[in-house]
Amino acid sequence: MESLATREQLDPAALGELEAAFAGEVIHPSDPAYEEGRAIWNGSIDRRPDLIAQCAGVADVIDAVRFARETEQLVAVRSGRHSYPGLCVCDGGMVIDVGRMKGIRVDPEARTARAQAGVLLGELDRETQAFGLAVPAGIVTHTGLAGLTLGGGVGWLERKYGLTVDQLLSVDMVTVDGELVRASEDENADLFWGLRGGGGNFGIVTEFEFRLNPVGPRVLAGPIMWAVEDSPEVLRFYREWIQGAPDELTTIVTHRRVLPLPTIPEELHGRHVVIVGSCFAGPVEEGERVLKPLRDFGSPLLDGCAPMPFTKHQAILDPSFPHGWWYYIRSCNLASLTDEVIDVLVDHALGIASPVTVFSIFHLGGAVARVGEDETPIAARNSGHIVNVIGITTTGDGFDQEREWARGLWSALQPHHQDVYVNFLMEEGEDRVREAYGAAKYDRLKVLKRKYDPHNFLRLNQNIPPA
Ligand SMILES: Cc1cc2nc3c(=O)[nH]c(=O)nc-3n(C[C@H](O)[C@H](O)[C@H](O)COP(=O)(O)OP(=O)(O)OC[C@H]3O[C@@H](n4cnc5c(N)ncnc54)[C@H](O)[C@@H]3O)c2cc1C
Repeated sequence: MESLATREQLDPAALGELEAAFAGEVIHPSDPAYEEGRAIWNGSIDRRPDLIAQCAGVADVIDAVRFARETEQLVAVRSGRHSYPGLCVCDGGMVIDVGRMKGIRVDPEARTARAQAGVLLGELDRETQAFGLAVPAGIVTHTGLAGLTLGGGVGWLERKYGLTVDQLLSVDMVTVDGELVRASEDENADLFWGLRGGGGNFGIVTEFEFRLNPVGPRVLAGPIMWAVEDSPEVLRFYREWIQGAPDELTTIVTHRRVLPLPTIPEELHGRHVVIVGSCFAGPVEEGERVLKPLRDFGSPLLDGCAPMPFTKHQAILDPSFPHGWWYYIRSCNLASLTDEVIDVLVDHALGIASPVTVFSIFHLGGAVARVGEDETPIAARNSGHIVNVIGITTTGDGFDQEREWARGLWSALQPHHQDVYVNFLMEEGEDRVREAYGAAKYDRLKVLKRKYDPHNFLRLNQNIPPA
Protein backbone atom coordinates (compact mmCIF):
# COMPACT_ATOMS: atom_id res chain seq x y z
CA MET A 1 0.00 0.00 0.00
CA GLU A 2 0.98 3.65 -0.31
CA SER A 3 2.65 5.30 2.67
CA LEU A 4 0.40 6.82 5.32
CA ALA A 5 -0.50 10.50 5.16
CA THR A 6 1.53 12.84 7.35
CA ARG A 7 -0.04 15.41 9.64
CA GLU A 8 0.70 18.09 7.00
CA GLN A 9 -1.05 16.11 4.29
CA LEU A 10 -4.06 15.69 6.56
CA ASP A 11 -4.64 19.47 6.88
CA PRO A 12 -3.03 20.44 10.21
CA ALA A 13 -5.44 23.31 10.91
CA ALA A 14 -8.55 21.17 10.55
CA LEU A 15 -6.90 18.33 12.47
CA GLY A 16 -5.83 20.67 15.28
CA GLU A 17 -9.39 21.92 15.58
CA LEU A 18 -10.74 18.37 15.71
CA GLU A 19 -8.23 17.31 18.35
CA ALA A 20 -8.72 20.39 20.53
CA ALA A 21 -12.41 19.71 21.03
CA PHE A 22 -12.39 15.91 20.90
CA ALA A 23 -13.48 14.20 24.15
CA GLY A 24 -12.32 10.76 22.98
CA GLU A 25 -8.96 10.09 21.39
CA VAL A 26 -7.58 10.79 17.93
CA ILE A 27 -4.91 8.16 17.27
CA HIS A 28 -2.09 8.54 14.72
CA PRO A 29 0.18 5.82 13.31
CA SER A 30 3.03 7.01 15.54
CA ASP A 31 0.97 6.70 18.74
CA PRO A 32 1.52 3.72 21.07
CA ALA A 33 -2.24 3.04 20.94
CA TYR A 34 -2.20 2.68 17.14
CA GLU A 35 -1.53 -1.07 16.79
CA GLU A 36 -4.31 -2.00 19.21
CA GLY A 37 -6.48 0.71 17.70
CA ARG A 38 -6.29 -0.65 14.16
CA ALA A 39 -6.64 -4.33 15.11
CA ILE A 40 -9.95 -6.00 14.35
CA TRP A 41 -11.49 -9.38 15.14
CA ASN A 42 -10.49 -11.04 11.87
CA GLY A 43 -6.71 -11.49 12.11
CA SER A 44 -6.40 -12.08 8.37
CA ILE A 45 -7.15 -8.39 7.72
CA ASP A 46 -4.21 -6.05 8.11
CA ARG A 47 -4.97 -2.43 7.24
CA ARG A 48 -3.38 0.82 8.30
CA PRO A 49 -5.58 3.91 8.50
CA ASP A 50 -4.08 7.42 8.70
CA LEU A 51 -6.27 8.29 11.66
CA ILE A 52 -8.49 6.55 14.18
CA ALA A 53 -11.06 8.78 15.87
CA GLN A 54 -12.27 6.96 18.98
CA CYS A 55 -15.40 8.91 19.79
CA ALA A 56 -16.58 9.41 23.37
CA GLY A 57 -20.01 10.71 22.44
CA VAL A 58 -22.31 12.14 19.79
CA ALA A 59 -20.41 15.45 19.61
CA ASP A 60 -17.22 13.59 18.71
CA VAL A 61 -19.04 11.67 15.98
CA ILE A 62 -20.39 14.92 14.53
CA ASP A 63 -16.93 16.53 14.56
CA ALA A 64 -15.29 13.44 13.08
CA VAL A 65 -17.82 13.32 10.23
CA ARG A 66 -17.39 17.03 9.50
CA PHE A 67 -13.59 16.73 9.53
CA ALA A 68 -13.70 13.72 7.22
CA ARG A 69 -16.02 15.52 4.81
CA GLU A 70 -13.95 18.71 4.79
CA THR A 71 -10.65 16.92 4.26
CA GLU A 72 -12.13 14.29 1.92
CA GLN A 73 -11.11 11.26 3.93
CA LEU A 74 -11.99 7.72 3.02
CA VAL A 75 -14.00 6.63 6.07
CA ALA A 76 -14.53 3.29 7.78
CA VAL A 77 -17.10 3.12 10.60
CA ARG A 78 -16.51 0.81 13.51
CA SER A 79 -18.36 -0.37 16.60
CA GLY A 80 -17.59 -3.95 17.67
CA ARG A 81 -14.85 -4.65 15.04
CA HIS A 82 -16.50 -7.93 13.95
CA SER A 83 -17.03 -7.23 10.26
CA TYR A 84 -16.06 -10.54 8.60
CA PRO A 85 -14.43 -8.83 5.59
CA GLY A 86 -12.90 -6.11 7.78
CA LEU A 87 -14.92 -3.23 6.38
CA CYS A 88 -14.49 -1.45 9.71
CA VAL A 89 -10.86 -0.56 8.98
CA CYS A 90 -9.27 1.07 5.93
CA ASP A 91 -5.87 1.42 4.33
CA GLY A 92 -5.19 5.15 4.58
CA GLY A 93 -8.18 7.33 5.44
CA MET A 94 -9.93 7.51 8.77
CA VAL A 95 -11.69 5.10 11.09
CA ILE A 96 -14.59 6.64 12.99
CA ASP A 97 -14.81 4.31 15.96
CA VAL A 98 -17.78 4.46 18.33
CA GLY A 99 -16.62 1.43 20.34
CA ARG A 100 -16.09 3.51 23.49
CA MET A 101 -19.73 4.63 23.58
CA LYS A 102 -21.08 2.03 25.98
CA GLY A 103 -24.03 3.61 27.75
CA ILE A 104 -26.97 1.26 28.46
CA ARG A 105 -30.21 2.13 30.20
CA VAL A 106 -32.88 -0.47 30.85
CA ASP A 107 -36.40 0.56 31.81
CA PRO A 108 -37.83 -2.63 33.32
CA GLU A 109 -41.31 -1.13 33.72
CA ALA A 110 -41.66 0.00 30.12
CA ARG A 111 -39.63 -3.03 28.96
CA THR A 112 -37.33 -0.95 26.79
CA ALA A 113 -33.58 -0.48 26.65
CA ARG A 114 -31.39 2.22 25.18
CA ALA A 115 -27.90 1.16 24.15
CA GLN A 116 -25.15 3.26 22.63
CA ALA A 117 -23.48 2.02 19.48
CA GLY A 118 -20.30 0.72 21.14
CA VAL A 119 -22.14 -1.84 23.26
CA LEU A 120 -21.27 -5.51 22.74
CA LEU A 121 -23.95 -8.21 22.89
CA GLY A 122 -22.77 -9.62 26.21
CA GLU A 123 -22.83 -6.17 27.77
CA LEU A 124 -26.45 -5.65 26.75
CA ASP A 125 -27.49 -9.11 28.00
CA ARG A 126 -25.82 -8.41 31.34
CA GLU A 127 -28.05 -5.38 31.91
CA THR A 128 -31.31 -6.70 30.48
CA GLN A 129 -31.03 -10.13 32.12
CA ALA A 130 -30.89 -8.48 35.56
CA PHE A 131 -34.63 -8.03 34.95
CA GLY A 132 -35.24 -11.34 33.12
CA LEU A 133 -35.51 -9.46 29.82
CA ALA A 134 -33.56 -9.63 26.55
CA VAL A 135 -33.12 -8.34 23.02
CA PRO A 136 -32.87 -11.17 20.47
CA ALA A 137 -29.32 -10.88 19.10
CA GLY A 138 -26.29 -12.93 18.08
CA ILE A 139 -24.58 -16.01 19.47
CA VAL A 140 -21.15 -14.65 20.47
CA THR A 141 -20.97 -12.16 23.33
CA HIS A 142 -18.11 -10.05 21.98
CA THR A 143 -19.94 -9.15 18.73
CA GLY A 144 -20.90 -5.49 18.29
CA LEU A 145 -24.56 -4.61 18.71
CA ALA A 146 -24.39 -1.86 16.07
CA GLY A 147 -23.18 -3.75 13.01
CA LEU A 148 -25.26 -6.78 13.92
CA THR A 149 -28.47 -4.79 14.37
CA LEU A 150 -28.02 -2.73 11.22
CA GLY A 151 -27.81 -5.94 9.15
CA GLY A 152 -30.71 -7.74 10.87
CA GLY A 153 -29.43 -9.89 13.73
CA VAL A 154 -29.98 -13.66 13.97
CA GLY A 155 -29.42 -15.71 17.12
CA TRP A 156 -30.75 -18.01 19.81
CA LEU A 157 -34.01 -16.10 20.34
CA GLU A 158 -34.89 -15.51 16.70
CA ARG A 159 -37.77 -17.97 16.39
CA LYS A 160 -39.43 -16.60 19.54
CA TYR A 161 -38.77 -12.86 19.17
CA GLY A 162 -37.56 -12.45 15.58
CA LEU A 163 -34.46 -10.68 14.36
CA THR A 164 -32.78 -7.97 16.41
CA VAL A 165 -34.32 -5.34 14.11
CA ASP A 166 -37.79 -6.71 14.83
CA GLN A 167 -37.48 -5.36 18.38
CA LEU A 168 -35.94 -2.04 17.37
CA LEU A 169 -37.95 1.03 18.40
CA SER A 170 -35.76 3.94 17.41
CA VAL A 171 -32.29 4.92 16.28
CA ASP A 172 -30.19 8.05 16.79
CA MET A 173 -27.95 8.65 13.81
CA VAL A 174 -25.43 11.27 12.73
CA THR A 175 -25.94 12.01 9.05
CA VAL A 176 -23.14 12.50 6.55
CA ASP A 177 -23.71 16.26 7.01
CA GLY A 178 -22.98 15.93 10.70
CA GLU A 179 -26.58 16.38 11.86
CA LEU A 180 -28.17 14.21 14.56
CA VAL A 181 -31.48 12.68 13.48
CA ARG A 182 -33.86 10.23 15.08
CA ALA A 183 -35.58 7.47 13.16
CA SER A 184 -38.59 5.46 14.32
CA GLU A 185 -41.99 4.38 12.99
CA ASP A 186 -43.17 7.98 13.59
CA GLU A 187 -40.11 10.01 12.71
CA ASN A 188 -38.11 9.66 9.50
CA ALA A 189 -39.95 6.41 8.90
CA ASP A 190 -38.25 5.86 5.54
CA LEU A 191 -34.86 5.97 7.22
CA PHE A 192 -36.07 3.69 10.02
CA TRP A 193 -37.11 1.14 7.42
CA GLY A 194 -33.68 1.30 5.77
CA LEU A 195 -31.78 1.01 9.04
CA ARG A 196 -33.55 -2.26 9.84
CA GLY A 197 -31.24 -4.26 7.58
CA GLY A 198 -29.64 -1.77 5.20
CA GLY A 199 -26.38 -1.75 7.18
CA GLY A 200 -24.14 1.26 7.70
CA ASN A 201 -25.11 2.94 4.45
CA PHE A 202 -27.10 5.92 5.69
CA GLY A 203 -25.17 7.53 8.54
CA ILE A 204 -23.36 6.74 11.77
CA VAL A 205 -25.64 5.35 14.43
CA THR A 206 -24.94 6.52 17.94
CA GLU A 207 -27.76 4.89 19.90
CA PHE A 208 -30.50 2.26 19.61
CA GLU A 209 -33.74 1.82 21.51
CA PHE A 210 -35.18 -1.69 21.79
CA ARG A 211 -38.32 -3.34 23.04
CA LEU A 212 -37.48 -5.99 25.66
CA ASN A 213 -39.11 -9.38 26.11
CA PRO A 214 -39.01 -11.93 28.93
CA VAL A 215 -36.27 -14.56 28.67
CA GLY A 216 -35.16 -16.95 31.46
CA PRO A 217 -33.06 -15.82 33.21
CA ARG A 218 -32.61 -19.62 33.28
CA VAL A 219 -33.18 -21.47 30.04
CA LEU A 220 -32.81 -25.07 28.92
CA ALA A 221 -29.94 -24.87 26.48
CA GLY A 222 -26.68 -26.36 25.29
CA PRO A 223 -25.09 -28.72 22.77
CA ILE A 224 -25.79 -32.36 21.96
CA MET A 225 -22.97 -34.00 20.01
CA TRP A 226 -22.73 -37.10 17.79
CA ALA A 227 -19.87 -38.56 15.77
CA VAL A 228 -19.72 -37.08 12.27
CA GLU A 229 -20.34 -40.56 10.84
CA ASP A 230 -23.84 -40.31 12.35
CA SER A 231 -24.45 -36.96 10.70
CA PRO A 232 -26.60 -38.23 7.77
CA GLU A 233 -29.06 -39.84 10.19
CA VAL A 234 -28.88 -36.98 12.69
CA LEU A 235 -29.62 -34.41 9.97
CA ARG A 236 -32.51 -36.44 8.55
CA PHE A 237 -33.97 -36.86 12.02
CA TYR A 238 -33.39 -33.17 12.77
CA ARG A 239 -35.13 -32.13 9.54
CA GLU A 240 -38.33 -33.92 10.60
CA TRP A 241 -38.10 -33.02 14.28
CA ILE A 242 -37.91 -29.24 13.71
CA GLN A 243 -41.08 -29.34 11.61
CA GLY A 244 -43.11 -29.46 14.82
CA ALA A 245 -40.80 -27.28 16.90
CA PRO A 246 -42.46 -24.50 18.89
CA ASP A 247 -41.19 -20.92 18.47
CA GLU A 248 -39.51 -21.13 21.88
CA LEU A 249 -36.97 -23.52 20.40
CA THR A 250 -34.12 -22.22 18.27
CA THR A 251 -31.42 -24.65 17.14
CA ILE A 252 -28.12 -24.34 15.30
CA VAL A 253 -26.38 -27.37 13.81
CA THR A 254 -22.60 -27.23 13.68
CA HIS A 255 -20.04 -29.52 12.09
CA ARG A 256 -16.49 -29.21 13.36
CA ARG A 257 -13.67 -30.91 15.20
CA VAL A 258 -14.04 -30.77 18.97
CA LEU A 259 -12.08 -27.97 20.62
CA PRO A 260 -9.75 -29.03 23.43
CA LEU A 261 -11.73 -27.23 26.13
CA PRO A 262 -11.51 -28.27 29.80
CA THR A 263 -15.31 -28.62 29.85
CA ILE A 264 -15.20 -31.40 27.24
CA PRO A 265 -13.87 -34.93 27.95
CA GLU A 266 -10.33 -35.26 26.62
CA GLU A 267 -11.06 -38.36 24.51
CA LEU A 268 -13.35 -36.23 22.32
CA HIS A 269 -10.80 -33.51 21.60
CA GLY A 270 -10.09 -33.20 17.89
CA ARG A 271 -12.86 -35.61 16.82
CA HIS A 272 -15.05 -34.72 13.85
CA VAL A 273 -18.59 -34.25 15.16
CA VAL A 274 -22.04 -32.90 14.41
CA ILE A 275 -23.56 -30.77 17.17
CA VAL A 276 -27.14 -29.61 17.59
CA GLY A 277 -27.12 -26.57 19.84
CA SER A 278 -30.47 -25.63 21.37
CA CYS A 279 -31.95 -22.77 23.32
CA PHE A 280 -35.48 -23.11 24.66
CA ALA A 281 -36.83 -19.65 25.49
CA GLY A 282 -39.74 -20.87 27.61
CA PRO A 283 -40.38 -22.88 30.79
CA VAL A 284 -37.57 -25.40 31.43
CA GLU A 285 -40.01 -28.34 31.96
CA GLU A 286 -41.63 -27.68 28.61
CA GLY A 287 -38.20 -27.50 27.01
CA GLU A 288 -37.32 -30.89 28.53
CA ARG A 289 -40.38 -32.38 26.83
CA VAL A 290 -39.65 -30.75 23.47
CA LEU A 291 -35.96 -31.73 23.47
CA LYS A 292 -36.45 -35.34 24.64
CA PRO A 293 -36.73 -36.92 21.16
CA LEU A 294 -33.49 -35.22 20.09
CA ARG A 295 -31.66 -36.29 23.24
CA ASP A 296 -32.91 -39.86 22.76
CA PHE A 297 -31.81 -40.04 19.15
CA GLY A 298 -28.94 -42.40 18.32
CA SER A 299 -25.89 -42.46 20.54
CA PRO A 300 -24.78 -38.95 21.44
CA LEU A 301 -21.14 -38.59 22.46
CA LEU A 302 -22.09 -35.75 24.77
CA ASP A 303 -25.28 -34.10 25.98
CA GLY A 304 -24.54 -30.68 27.42
CA CYS A 305 -28.16 -29.54 27.40
CA ALA A 306 -29.13 -28.32 30.87
CA PRO A 307 -30.95 -25.51 32.62
CA MET A 308 -28.50 -22.61 32.80
CA PRO A 309 -28.46 -18.82 32.95
CA PHE A 310 -29.24 -17.41 29.51
CA THR A 311 -26.06 -15.30 29.77
CA LYS A 312 -23.99 -18.47 30.27
CA HIS A 313 -25.49 -20.06 27.19
CA GLN A 314 -24.83 -16.88 25.20
CA ALA A 315 -21.11 -17.23 26.01
CA ILE A 316 -20.78 -20.93 25.10
CA LEU A 317 -19.49 -20.25 21.60
CA ASP A 318 -17.08 -17.45 22.57
CA PRO A 319 -14.01 -19.76 22.69
CA SER A 320 -14.70 -20.90 19.10
CA PHE A 321 -14.34 -17.40 17.64
CA PRO A 322 -11.70 -15.40 19.56
CA HIS A 323 -10.22 -12.13 18.35
CA GLY A 324 -7.15 -12.40 16.15
CA TRP A 325 -7.54 -15.84 14.54
CA TRP A 326 -7.75 -15.92 10.75
CA TYR A 327 -11.28 -16.29 9.35
CA TYR A 328 -12.72 -16.76 5.86
CA ILE A 329 -16.51 -16.89 5.55
CA ARG A 330 -18.94 -17.99 2.86
CA SER A 331 -22.67 -18.05 3.47
CA CYS A 332 -25.96 -18.80 1.78
CA ASN A 333 -29.56 -19.42 2.69
CA LEU A 334 -31.34 -22.66 1.92
CA ALA A 335 -35.02 -23.55 1.66
CA SER A 336 -34.60 -26.91 3.39
CA LEU A 337 -32.22 -29.71 4.24
CA THR A 338 -32.95 -31.97 1.29
CA ASP A 339 -31.15 -35.30 0.87
CA GLU A 340 -28.87 -33.69 -1.74
CA VAL A 341 -27.99 -30.86 0.65
CA ILE A 342 -27.29 -33.31 3.46
CA ASP A 343 -24.97 -35.32 1.20
CA VAL A 344 -22.96 -32.18 0.38
CA LEU A 345 -22.78 -31.08 4.01
CA VAL A 346 -21.64 -34.46 5.32
CA ASP A 347 -19.13 -34.93 2.56
CA HIS A 348 -17.46 -31.61 3.40
CA ALA A 349 -17.73 -32.14 7.15
CA LEU A 350 -15.52 -35.20 6.78
CA GLY A 351 -12.98 -33.03 4.97
CA ILE A 352 -12.49 -30.45 7.73
CA ALA A 353 -8.75 -30.31 8.34
CA SER A 354 -8.20 -27.37 10.70
CA PRO A 355 -8.96 -28.09 14.37
CA VAL A 356 -10.88 -24.79 14.54
CA THR A 357 -12.84 -24.63 11.26
CA VAL A 358 -16.66 -24.83 11.55
CA PHE A 359 -19.82 -24.60 9.56
CA SER A 360 -23.16 -23.80 11.12
CA ILE A 361 -26.75 -24.14 9.99
CA PHE A 362 -29.19 -21.69 11.60
CA HIS A 363 -32.86 -22.70 11.75
CA LEU A 364 -35.13 -19.80 10.75
CA GLY A 365 -38.95 -19.68 10.69
CA GLY A 366 -41.12 -18.82 13.71
CA ALA A 367 -41.22 -15.10 14.48
CA VAL A 368 -38.63 -14.33 11.77
CA ALA A 369 -41.00 -15.48 9.05
CA ARG A 370 -44.07 -13.77 10.51
CA VAL A 371 -42.74 -10.28 9.76
CA GLY A 372 -43.82 -9.20 6.29
CA GLU A 373 -41.24 -9.31 3.49
CA ASP A 374 -41.58 -5.56 2.88
CA GLU A 375 -41.59 -4.45 6.50
CA THR A 376 -37.79 -4.54 6.58
CA PRO A 377 -35.22 -4.67 3.76
CA ILE A 378 -34.09 -8.23 4.63
CA ALA A 379 -34.66 -10.95 2.03
CA ALA A 380 -34.00 -14.03 4.14
CA ARG A 381 -37.26 -14.11 6.08
CA ASN A 382 -38.76 -17.04 4.27
CA SER A 383 -35.63 -19.13 4.01
CA GLY A 384 -35.48 -22.31 6.03
CA HIS A 385 -31.83 -22.08 7.04
CA ILE A 386 -28.74 -19.90 6.93
CA VAL A 387 -25.52 -21.80 6.31
CA ASN A 388 -22.39 -20.08 7.54
CA VAL A 389 -19.14 -21.73 6.48
CA ILE A 390 -16.06 -20.45 8.31
CA GLY A 391 -12.58 -21.63 7.40
CA ILE A 392 -10.43 -20.81 10.42
CA THR A 393 -6.79 -21.02 11.44
CA THR A 394 -5.18 -19.57 14.53
CA THR A 395 -2.46 -17.87 12.45
CA GLY A 396 -1.76 -17.44 8.73
CA ASP A 397 -0.40 -21.02 8.58
CA GLY A 398 -2.75 -23.27 6.62
CA PHE A 399 -5.21 -20.43 5.98
CA ASP A 400 -5.21 -20.80 2.18
CA GLN A 401 -6.27 -24.43 2.49
CA GLU A 402 -9.16 -23.60 4.85
CA ARG A 403 -10.27 -20.81 2.52
CA GLU A 404 -10.36 -23.24 -0.38
CA TRP A 405 -12.29 -25.76 1.69
CA ALA A 406 -14.87 -23.08 2.63
CA ARG A 407 -15.21 -22.02 -1.00
CA GLY A 408 -15.59 -25.67 -2.00
CA LEU A 409 -18.49 -26.32 0.37
CA TRP A 410 -20.20 -23.06 -0.59
CA SER A 411 -19.84 -23.84 -4.31
CA ALA A 412 -21.11 -27.38 -3.89
CA LEU A 413 -24.25 -25.92 -2.27
CA GLN A 414 -24.71 -23.43 -5.11
CA PRO A 415 -27.59 -25.27 -6.84
CA HIS A 416 -29.54 -24.90 -3.57
CA HIS A 417 -28.72 -21.25 -2.73
CA GLN A 418 -31.76 -19.03 -2.12
CA ASP A 419 -30.51 -15.66 -0.96
CA VAL A 420 -28.01 -14.47 1.62
CA TYR A 421 -27.85 -12.69 4.97
CA VAL A 422 -25.96 -9.41 4.55
CA ASN A 423 -23.98 -9.68 7.79
CA PHE A 424 -22.48 -12.99 6.62
CA LEU A 425 -21.07 -11.58 3.37
CA MET A 426 -17.42 -11.03 2.58
CA GLU A 427 -16.60 -8.42 -0.09
CA GLU A 428 -18.51 -10.21 -2.83
CA GLY A 429 -19.71 -7.43 -5.12
CA GLU A 430 -22.96 -5.63 -5.83
CA ASP A 431 -24.95 -8.64 -7.06
CA ARG A 432 -24.50 -10.40 -3.76
CA VAL A 433 -25.58 -7.31 -1.81
CA ARG A 434 -28.66 -7.13 -4.03
CA GLU A 435 -29.35 -10.79 -3.23
CA ALA A 436 -29.42 -9.95 0.47
CA TYR A 437 -32.40 -7.66 -0.13
CA GLY A 438 -34.05 -8.80 -3.34
CA ALA A 439 -34.22 -6.55 -6.41
CA ALA A 440 -37.22 -4.41 -5.45
CA LYS A 441 -36.06 -3.63 -1.93
CA TYR A 442 -32.52 -3.05 -3.15
CA ASP A 443 -33.84 -0.36 -5.50
CA ARG A 444 -35.78 1.21 -2.63
CA LEU A 445 -32.59 1.23 -0.54
CA LYS A 446 -30.72 2.94 -3.38
CA VAL A 447 -33.30 5.73 -3.43
CA LEU A 448 -32.93 6.09 0.34
CA LYS A 449 -29.16 6.18 -0.05
CA ARG A 450 -29.49 9.03 -2.54
CA LYS A 451 -31.50 10.97 0.05
CA TYR A 452 -29.16 10.35 3.01
CA ASP A 453 -25.75 9.88 1.40
CA PRO A 454 -25.90 11.09 -2.22
CA HIS A 455 -22.12 11.08 -2.72
CA ASN A 456 -21.56 7.64 -1.17
CA PHE A 457 -19.40 9.09 1.60
CA LEU A 458 -20.08 5.88 3.54
CA ARG A 459 -18.97 3.30 1.01
CA LEU A 460 -16.79 0.95 3.05
CA ASN A 461 -19.70 -1.32 3.91
CA GLN A 462 -21.95 -3.78 2.10
CA ASN A 463 -22.45 -0.88 -0.22
CA ILE A 464 -25.71 0.27 -1.71
CA PRO A 465 -24.73 2.92 -4.24
CA PRO A 466 -27.08 5.92 -4.48
CA ALA A 467 -29.77 5.63 -7.18
C1 LIG B 1 -17.65 -14.00 16.04
C2 LIG B 1 -18.84 -13.48 15.27
C3 LIG B 1 -20.09 -13.94 15.56
C4 LIG B 1 -21.19 -13.46 14.87
N1 LIG B 1 -22.43 -13.93 15.19
C5 LIG B 1 -23.50 -13.41 14.59
C6 LIG B 1 -24.80 -13.82 14.98
O1 LIG B 1 -24.97 -14.68 15.81
N2 LIG B 1 -25.85 -13.22 14.38
C7 LIG B 1 -25.70 -12.26 13.43
O2 LIG B 1 -26.71 -11.77 12.95
N3 LIG B 1 -24.48 -11.86 13.04
C8 LIG B 1 -23.39 -12.41 13.60
N4 LIG B 1 -22.14 -12.02 13.21
C9 LIG B 1 -22.00 -11.06 12.09
C10 LIG B 1 -22.13 -9.66 12.63
O3 LIG B 1 -23.50 -9.33 12.70
C11 LIG B 1 -21.42 -8.67 11.72
O4 LIG B 1 -20.07 -9.03 11.63
C12 LIG B 1 -21.56 -7.25 12.25
O5 LIG B 1 -21.16 -6.35 11.25
C13 LIG B 1 -20.74 -7.02 13.48
O6 LIG B 1 -20.98 -5.76 14.02
P1 LIG B 1 -19.80 -4.94 14.73
O7 LIG B 1 -20.37 -3.69 15.26
O8 LIG B 1 -19.06 -5.83 15.67
O9 LIG B 1 -18.87 -4.72 13.50
P2 LIG B 1 -17.93 -3.58 12.95
O10 LIG B 1 -16.85 -4.33 12.27
O11 LIG B 1 -17.55 -2.59 13.97
O12 LIG B 1 -18.86 -2.93 11.87
C14 LIG B 1 -19.26 -3.65 10.74
C15 LIG B 1 -19.93 -2.72 9.77
O13 LIG B 1 -21.16 -2.28 10.33
C16 LIG B 1 -21.36 -0.91 10.04
N5 LIG B 1 -21.41 -0.20 11.32
C17 LIG B 1 -20.86 -0.58 12.49
N6 LIG B 1 -21.16 0.31 13.43
C18 LIG B 1 -21.89 1.27 12.85
C19 LIG B 1 -22.50 2.46 13.33
N7 LIG B 1 -22.39 2.85 14.61
N8 LIG B 1 -23.19 3.21 12.45
C20 LIG B 1 -23.30 2.85 11.15
N9 LIG B 1 -22.74 1.74 10.65
C21 LIG B 1 -22.06 0.96 11.50
C22 LIG B 1 -20.22 -0.46 9.18
O14 LIG B 1 -20.60 -0.56 7.83
C23 LIG B 1 -19.15 -1.46 9.47
O15 LIG B 1 -18.29 -1.71 8.38
C24 LIG B 1 -21.02 -12.48 13.87
C25 LIG B 1 -19.75 -12.03 13.57
C26 LIG B 1 -18.67 -12.52 14.25
C27 LIG B 1 -17.31 -12.04 13.89
